[in-house]
Amino acid sequence: MDENINGLISDLRTYLEYLEGMGITSLPGAEDVPEKALRLGTLTLADVRKELGDCKRCKLHRTRKTIVFGEGNEKASLMFIGEGPGYDEDVQGRPFVGKAGQLLTKIIESINLSREEVYIANIVKCRPPQNRNPESDEIESCSPFLMKQIWVIQPKIICALGTFSAQTLLRTDTKITALRGKLFDLEGIKVIPTYHPAFLLRNPERKREVWEDMKQIAELIRGQ
Ligand code: URA
Repeated sequence: MDENINGLISDLRTYLEYLEGMGITSLPGAEDVPEKALRLGTLTLADVRKELGDCKRCKLHRTRKTIVFGEGNEKASLMFIGEGPGYDEDVQGRPFVGKAGQLLTKIIESINLSREEVYIANIVKCRPPQNRNPESDEIESCSPFLMKQIWVIQPKIICALGTFSAQTLLRTDTKITALRGKLFDLEGIKVIPTYHPAFLLRNPERKREVWEDMKQIAELIRGQ
């Protein structure tokens, strides 16, 4: 029993340090967080979705149509994290379903995986108006939920899609051209930034580099 409690406290401390490392120093409405949400190992994505509710924690709720929570395999080894929903995602409530999303699907399939086998999420879950970059207060409100999703899924690898995702996850302002293809560590999870599929639609000559990054990811998955 004592061992269980000690394990729980140690896991909880690791989780809180992890959040702190991500710049999250307080849990929004921590008093509302279901007790179960903090009992590691029992938390599910459904719990996280339930806790998110009809979120109005930041101003993006005023202009969004739908919350785009994320989708895929709760036990995925590989997670893709984009920036935030665009028009199509806002309408359908699913991540990466527009033109960029169709390209992401092909990118995933290029390493013989399907969308159902990976998990796809975004830094923020509501569409920023006119697809502007998410603002820091919006990221701060949304991050605890993304962190809990990562915590539940425990992927081996996170592929950060584009400048915004990579810079936010790695807490850096280094350019994506310098970050892409490199391997970073986020609390034991490997993070590989690559170009955003929307950028590839505008710059198809950069697809080759993404292909290199995907090959690296496939090798890491094979070697895990
Ligand atoms: N771009 C993103 O960053 N995320 C989406 O879900 C769609 C487009």
